[in-house]
Amino acid sequence: MDFEKFYQENNVQSLYGRYITLEDIEPILKKWNTNNQLNTVGYSVEKRPIYSYQIGTGKTKFFLWSQMHGNESTTTKALFDFLNLLQKDSEISRQLVESFTFYCLPMVNPDGAFYYTRENANKIDLNRDSQNLTQPESKVLRECFNAFKPDYCYNLHDQRTIFGVDDTGKPATVSF
Ligand SMILES: [Zn+2]
Repeated sequence: MDFEKFYQENNVQSLYGRYITLEDIEPILKKWNTNNQLNTVGYSVEKRPIYSYQIGTGKTKFFLWSQMHGNESTTTKALFDFLNLLQKDSEISRQLVESFTFYCLPMVNPDGAFYYTRENANKIDLNRDSQNLTQPESKVLRECFNAFKPDYCYNLHDQRTIFGVDDTGKPATVSF
């Protein structure tokens, strides 16, 4: 497969740069909300909506959430490229949506995204709050997990460039 070409075909061009907020993703989610795939599942500390987007009818269930660290937008962009692929009427898209159900929270920490911080508006690292559940964003994530009962979870993050991909000499751009 020509990955460069595949990427160009599915890249969501309106999402670029490091600063990605709700304002950037809302119009895309609304455009893709053709059959009630989009829901508001809760609100952040500062009452910004936390969205879910579900697509696919397959038996195996994937739960993917991005940007729980507000300044880590790379996986949000990757997730939107993937969702863009799933919107298409192609063989690979059909295979994916027939085999799997994807349930996504594309921006768990919209306040952190707005302020471009790792933490939420209460200065809590949500990735460290998954057991204590002191924050509204952590509670939403847990409630969605409990309701959806996924087979697989993807906790999507950016990665620092000090981490490499095996012995390729290339930095790891995203991690999950
Ligand atoms: Zn992170």
